[in-house]
Amino acid sequence: MAHRLTVIGTGYLGATHAACMADLGYEVVGLDTDATKVERLAAGDLPVYEPGLEPILRRNLAAGRLRFTTSYDEAADFGDVHFVCVGTPQKHGEYAADLTYVDAAIEELAPRLHRPCLVVGKSTVPVGTAARLAARLAELAPAGGDAVLAWNPEFLREGYAVKDTLHPDRIVAGVPDDQGAAERAEKVLREVYSSMIGEGTPFIVADYATAELVKVAANAFLATKISFINAMAEVCEAAHADVTKLSLALSYDDRIGGKFLGPGLGFGGGCLPKDIRAFMARAGELGVDQALTFLREVDEINIRRRIRMVDLARELLGGSFAGRTVGVLGAAFKPDSDDVRDSPALDVAATIHAQGGAVTVYDPQAMNNARRAHPDLKFGTSALDAARDAHVVLLLTEWREFREMDPAALAGVVAERNIVDGRNALDPERWRTAGWTYRALGRP
Ligand code: NAD
Repeated sequence: MAHRLTVIGTGYLGATHAACMADLGYEVVGLDTDATKVERLAAGDLPVYEPGLEPILRRNLAAGRLRFTTSYDEAADFGDVHFVCVGTPQKHGEYAADLTYVDAAIEELAPRLHRPCLVVGKSTVPVGTAARLAARLAELAPAGGDAVLAWNPEFLREGYAVKDTLHPDRIVAGVPDDQGAAERAEKVLREVYSSMIGEGTPFIVADYATAELVKVAANAFLATKISFINAMAEVCEAAHADVTKLSLALSYDDRIGGKFLGPGLGFGGGCLPKDIRAFMARAGELGVDQALTFLREVDEINIRRRIRMVDLARELLGGSFAGRTVGVLGAAFKPDSDDVRDSPALDVAATIHAQGGAVTVYDPQAMNNARRAHPDLKFGTSALDAARDAHVVLLLTEWREFREMDPAALAGVVAERNIVDGRNALDPERWRTAGWTYRALGRP
């Protein structure tokens, strides 16, 4: 328990990791280049919405185990283990990942590392990145071979980030080829994660490349599962079948399972879309692009759901959005998150707005982020407010408060009782009985 940890990059992943590691009893310093974010975190004000995280942040700040800084000098002096959690977004106009931030973190940290330590990459990176960064670390760190790099990809889900961090399904440790360095890296990571390993969490040691690939392979699989059921939804629509019943029936097959098999508006967010694209780009560089051409289909099926959603809403309005009012419920890419990166909901709202619809959006947690991303859109103060005078209401993010909406209450504010359930989250019978025209993706 002697380890002092730093977490470099305190966004969705890093803020969670820093607070949860402190909660396990470690002394933790979180570092971010965004001074406003650092100030808010230091004041116990979580800059993102993540259920259950803010109390953990606050109690560890109060206990003096957790603090935040913008200073690499401070972090380098302090840490025995440095977790790199900076962003790896999609490059503009390309599929590849933008590694500027990971590179910058190593360039800043490495020259300041004067004593033995472990640098642990957690960001999602293209295979080959860890080996390149390890070489750079060895070049730049004054401690030379005493600064070892490990790659420990992160699998947390927004909305469940605390549970996923403290009780992960598995821990993957990518270690260097050099046996001495590999043993040191494994030993330190086993100590840091001892509470989870003690609970029986599988701990898988691999080379860098395999560890990097586990993460993108997992995301490629999950994206494929979602697009598979959404491809079935396309067929169901054409064949007048019901994809929700199809999905339910498939889910009882142990070999298939029901998770990630919910048909609807598809995936978005700061991970799956950019990760599958970066994976395709990297496969191309490695000369095996054919291995992943199916991911292009996965991506296209996913985007087609957004187009279909817009078409369905337009159909309900008789073929045009002009002069029509549209209430949009949801802006976050999924419920229990305020993340609007590549959000299907906002994409649909923006497209309808561009096609002449008068759109009002409401989301329980993502309003600030949504406003920043789409200042051109109009936002309501509640679900009822967003639906006021609407000719059609679109449910695009399945927040609980939307799933549990009362059709009669909503009927009281709309201009016409038309609803499109983009997440197959409502009970069609209940809505039809209340006088609504109910439409959904993949259902008659
Ligand atoms: P994010 O954008 O919320 O956070 C990244 C943070 O890094 C920002 O606060 C940014 O200011 C900071 N940063 C950028 N450059 C920096 C630098 N040089 N030094 C210090 N800080 C710097 O992103 P995120 O969602 O937390 O994702 C981070 C990484 O984790 C990505 O690679 C992502 O793919 C991966 N990941 C994310 C999730 C998730 O659910 N969000 C899950 C698993 C893996």
